[in-house]
Amino acid sequence: MNSVDHSLWRKTCAEKVETNSLTGSVSVDLAVIGGGYTGCSAALTAAKAGAAVCLLEAEEIGHGGSGRNVGLVNAGLWLPPKKIRERLGEQVGNRLIQLLAAAPAEVFKLIERHQIDCDPLQNGTLHCAHSRVGEMDLKSRYAQLKESGAPVELISAEDTKSKTGSDQFQAALFDPRAGTIQPLAYCVGLARAASQAGAQIFEQSAVLSLDYLDNHWVLATSNGTVHAKAVIQATNAYHQNLNLTRPQYVPMYFFQYATAPLAENLRACILSGGEGCWDTELIMTSFRMDRDGRFIIGGMGDLSSFGRSFHHGWVRRKLSALFPSLADQPLVDEWHGRIAMTSDHLPKIIKLGPNVLAVHGFSGRGIGPGTVFGGMMAESLLKDDLARLPIAPVAQYNESWTRTRRTFFETGAALTHLFKARS
Ligand SMILES: Cc1cc2nc3c(=O)[nH]c(=O)nc-3n(C[C@H](O)[C@H](O)[C@H](O)COP(=O)(O)OP(=O)(O)OC[C@H]3O[C@@H](n4cnc5c(N)ncnc54)[C@H](O)[C@@H]3O)c2cc1C
Repeated sequence: MNSVDHSLWRKTCAEKVETNSLTGSVSVDLAVIGGGYTGCSAALTAAKAGAAVCLLEAEEIGHGGSGRNVGLVNAGLWLPPKKIRERLGEQVGNRLIQLLAAAPAEVFKLIERHQIDCDPLQNGTLHCAHSRVGEMDLKSRYAQLKESGAPVELISAEDTKSKTGSDQFQAALFDPRAGTIQPLAYCVGLARAASQAGAQIFEQSAVLSLDYLDNHWVLATSNGTVHAKAVIQATNAYHQNLNLTRPQYVPMYFFQYATAPLAENLRACILSGGEGCWDTELIMTSFRMDRDGRFIIGGMGDLSSFGRSFHHGWVRRKLSALFPSLADQPLVDEWHGRIAMTSDHLPKIIKLGPNVLAVHGFSGRGIGPGTVFGGMMAESLLKDDLARLPIAPVAQYNESWTRTRRTFFETGAALTHLFKARS
């Protein structure tokens, strides 16, 4: 069994990037802090534009959410279009909706262009209705997405059964723009592409301080220094080091369990089209196959907390309920990751000082959005034009009661899983 901090994705990652730990002094146009999708996409964009850029990662590339997630490349955020417009206004909201609608295409294009070995499969995703109420939610999302021009389809219980292999869903919203990837391999591949384009990538190089001196920024690690004209802080839910401005968010954990590769007869009747799935429950479930035919199921919760046994019991019961033929399959890998949720479920860009931007709060939708935001933040800083950003930056962002809300969510998920496991 893996440690909950080391995902299946690390075991099956085919991509590699050559890196060092920072020693000595480096001068660049742009320094990027954090080696997830956002930071790697920023470094790649800047290097391709001909800028001198370095990326500093505290641990290894993909250590954060980018190496632990489900791998669903979605078109958009959690929020349906109407809510995005309500929260950001018509003009900004519409621009963000269109930018993120194109995000899967951008991700799959980058994978193709840089030959990233991350099992890309653009066969769509299925948002599955677990109840009549869930079906009503999907109908409302369907209407809003159609109005925004998205090529989504609302499919019947029968069609959902034929695609998923499970008879437990009332309907599903199929999005053909979306798909699945090996999430860590995509992240490492972005870093490798950035390195090939000229970016300097440093791992085991936590930034300990960020100071503005003589019109430029000085970033210090334990063995080196970077002098930079501009800085992007992309540390999201895995931010470490109290000397830097800490992103404000509510931490929410999501875990996954994986079987060993399934036999051909099982693979033929479960998700045979390779779609990535999640359901409409408040305490949601995700499921997908990987390249080798492992079935991966996920739910909300922290596997290192008191609720671990509840989560584990729930997974076994849920798997049997959804796919009786998998009831006896051993679960050989388990891991979890931390999601940075914001109260309005929208990401935040913060202008920390002259030519310094921080971003966080993808709220569980970061593959497409992180890729898009990272690239656009790099362009905005290099062209000194913040109007290019996907959303307007704010001077500061606060969340209150984050610990209490984290405890509330974790307790809610654990109790839900305890009772659902027994029902
Ligand atoms: C379990 C789980 C499931 C998810 N499922 C999906 C999904 O299916 N689809 C989807 O679109 N999104 C999903 N998400 C969200 C998505 O994974 C994240 O939004 C995305 O990975 C964020 O990328 P990032 O680059 O902003 O941050 P991260 O990937 O978290 O990277 C931040 C990096 O910064 C580094 N760092 C921190 N502090 C420092 C420092 N001081 N110096 C240097 N480096 C530092 C960290 O080590 C880390 O590597 C999921 C998230 C989780 C946790």
